[in-house]
Amino acid sequence: RHFFMDKTFVEWAYQDKAFPIGHEQTISQPFTVAIQSTLLEIKKGDRVLEIGTGSGYQAAILALLGAEVYTIERQEALYLQAKNLLQELGITQVRCFYGDGYQGLEQFAPFDKILVTAGAPGIPTALKKQLKIGGYLVIPTGENVQQMLRLSRVGKNSWETETFGDFRFVPMLSGLSPKNND
Ligand code: SAH
Repeated sequence: RHFFMDKTFVEWAYQDKAFPIGHEQTISQPFTVAIQSTLLEIKKGDRVLEIGTGSGYQAAILALLGAEVYTIERQEALYLQAKNLLQELGITQVRCFYGDGYQGLEQFAPFDKILVTAGAPGIPTALKKQLKIGGYLVIPTGENVQQMLRLSRVGKNSWETETFGDFRFVPMLSGLSPKNND
């Protein structure tokens, strides 16, 4: 995890806490990364879409679990930083995209699994549609506190929902971030 931390906080990389990574964003707490990764039940070769690349840490974990990862970030500076870092670390199973996660990545859909790592006010329709039948969408939803949801797509037009407790994420925002935004 120390590779993915802001230098200011690197000595605390192995504390079970979220830390700032700039641009008002955070690297998720290890416990949260563990829960989200577990809920996805990654199998080798799964095609996984992640919304909210941030530091790139969660994407790297998914890659090490055997997934082929597509990850989207709306802050250009974070997108570039994560993309370069993952490349330096030789983590080639992650492809980074600069874009709005609310749209998903239609051109690479459907995905076996989709993971949202920001707090979403609701469940974006595009993401539900880009999930394979039999696939999982793990998404924290709610305003101040988020409930961890896991949706299973059980048919073309049917999804089942399970809930896994309360978490706190930075918000999932619409559109691209304005440039030079700190
Ligand atoms: N998975 C990250 C967690 C980063 S915090 C990690 O392991 O470090 C959540 C990230 O989601 C932030 O970087 C934020 O900019 C991004 N984000 C918020 N809304 C988004 C959206 N609509 N599309 C893409 N990224 C988004």
